[in-house]
Amino acid sequence: MIIDIVTLFPEMFEGPLDESIVKRARQAGVVDIRLHDLREWTRDKHRKADDEMFGGGAGLVMKAEPLFLCHDELLARARAHRPEAPKPLVVLTSPQGQLLNQALTRRLSAEREHVVVICGHYKGVDERFVEGCVDLELSIGDYVLSGGELPAMVLVDALVRLLPGAIGSAESAETDSLEDGLLDAPVYTRPASVRGREVPDVLLSGHHARIEAWRLEQRQERTRRKRPDLWKRKMPDEG
Ligand code: SAH
Repeated sequence: MIIDIVTLFPEMFEGPLDESIVKRARQAGVVDIRLHDLREWTRDKHRKADDEMFGGGAGLVMKAEPLFLCHDELLARARAHRPEAPKPLVVLTSPQGQLLNQALTRRLSAEREHVVVICGHYKGVDERFVEGCVDLELSIGDYVLSGGELPAMVLVDALVRLLPGAIGSAESAETDSLEDGLLDAPVYTRPASVRGREVPDVLLSGHHARIEAWRLEQRQERTRRKRPDLWKRKMPDEG
């Protein structure tokens, strides 16, 4: 997968995309993450990528023209590199967007070879760019952040860990929470006793089928208790 990230603050990405699973996936060539400083597509001497709002009001707006230029160049590069490849999906991080969840993450990581992520900042981006170029507005939750950089990192992490070859068997993603509409079972590691608290006996039994049955029960019980909304969706006929 190729992920282009367009931002006014590329330095913010140093660290989060250079550790752990994402780092290894980059090194292994599972994903190619490219950071682009939007100011490179400004054409004035002050490299101005934002300006005051038409109609008045506090807050700056990201200018349309640098975004259009950047978008056009990234898409042209992709076409030149692989003319037969589908057009990259252009995603705008926005609190007004579709809420990111595991099903959407699965779909994007399985179906998309190339994603361009635009990070908004300040009051957001000029609407004409949204109308002209954005395929999908994506929100990471019903709260407002100062910029789209953290949402972009969240999206990248969520996508990359699902790519084939990104995760070792020790970190298997299939049994994680939300994959099948249930939360994950509780997990324990050595020692078997900590501050008077014991690991459930069944996990020490070595009895594979009983362990699996216990885990499923736990997953159902905690989904019902911690996330009744998910449980209702999973089991619409139950009270
Ligand atoms: N005035 C805008 C919010 C701007 S916040 C509005 O009310 O819709 C500045 C930028 O941060 C946004 O352009 C977006 O890119 C990013 N952002 C803020 N909250 C976000 C969220 N929950 N999910 C995704 N991106 C978000």
